[in-house]
Amino acid sequence: MIQGHAHPVIGAAIRERYEKGTHFAAPTEDSVVVAEELKRRWQIPQWRYTNSGSEATMDAIRIARAYTGREPVMKIFGSYHGHHDSVMVSIAGEYEEIGEPDALVSVPYGAGIPRSTVDLTFAVPYNDARSMEHRIEKPTKEGSKPACVIMEASPMNMRLILPEPGYLEAVREITERHGVILIFDEVKTGLTLAAGGAVERFGVRPDMVTLAKTLGGGFPLGAVGGSEDVMSVVKDGSVYQVGTYNGNPLGMAAARSSLTDVLTPDAYRHVERLNDRLIGACNKVLDEFGLPGYSLGLGAKGCVTFAAEKVTDYRSFQANRDTDLSRLFWLYCFNRGVFTAPNRDQEWTLSVTHTEQAVDAYASALHDLAADLAP
Ligand code: PLP
Repeated sequence: MIQGHAHPVIGAAIRERYEKGTHFAAPTEDSVVVAEELKRRWQIPQWRYTNSGSEATMDAIRIARAYTGREPVMKIFGSYHGHHDSVMVSIAGEYEEIGEPDALVSVPYGAGIPRSTVDLTFAVPYNDARSMEHRIEKPTKEGSKPACVIMEASPMNMRLILPEPGYLEAVREITERHGVILIFDEVKTGLTLAAGGAVERFGVRPDMVTLAKTLGGGFPLGAVGGSEDVMSVVKDGSVYQVGTYNGNPLGMAAARSSLTDVLTPDAYRHVERLNDRLIGACNKVLDEFGLPGYSLGLGAKGCVTFAAEKVTDYRSFQANRDTDLSRLFWLYCFNRGVFTAPNRDQEWTLSVTHTEQAVDAYASALHDLAADLAP
């Protein structure tokens, strides 16, 4: 919630929308204004709406499959892209084992996912363009290259991992050369890493982008964006991309007011300044007390990763993270009135309503933890 909770501007837009009606199963003017704003921020011309991030990634994959005529999907080990079958594979989790990079084992996350779907999805390590190319070149059982690579430009559910210099550029070059659609899943990074998400932050242009979370300002909303060419399969009706509540008027009103009046250049300056302050304060505590870990972040996003070594992908995250320290820190925060996401592997998101006092309270909880653990 980079907008903070119950933002008055969004509240006013929602009340006004409610008075006019909330469901027509047809686009409202807000849908057009939001699409224009997304086009401006991402330099991506065509957008379709959904109600969630899961629907956005599901639709993006279907569009990529229809456009390329291929079925396999490539993702990154440990990454989460929603709860539909094609992406519930090789996700970070306590009860999952991942294969060696070359063994190419796809692991379903939870029961009820058909093996045939799991076999169509394979994962490669983050920050490793060589493995990606190797896997794209290696024919699958079905004998085809992947339709798409779906990835977060900077993975968020293993705390936060940044791309090594040149990695995203290499991914772009490899996917382009092999005719593989590159989808940046920006459900988390969109509108948080920068006004134009990871695309603006890292300057690498995917073929498609998926959005949700921040886009709806607290209401259910998602979006899929792509080039005229790729999205032509929706326009010509060959891909069925619909839903009763897709682009629903309440979500669109929240998105419009967020994009035009809340997530302004000043708002980004504010969260970035606070983020620098918070990351700096956390690193100072970690250094002073010699706790194994580091803090990093971009835009409104950041984290403290408790790990002996720098984490560069899911494998090194699993090998190095200190889960006991993470749990304890969560409790130290909670007991001091700082409620962070209950899943200890999540990053933080600063909001336009956060203050220096709020971020200092977080750093102070870390200080208390470090001081109590000091010999
Ligand atoms: N993609 C990413 C990167 C996510 O983090 C999530 C949710 O956490 C999703 C997709 C799924 O979004 P939703 O929970 O709205 O279905």
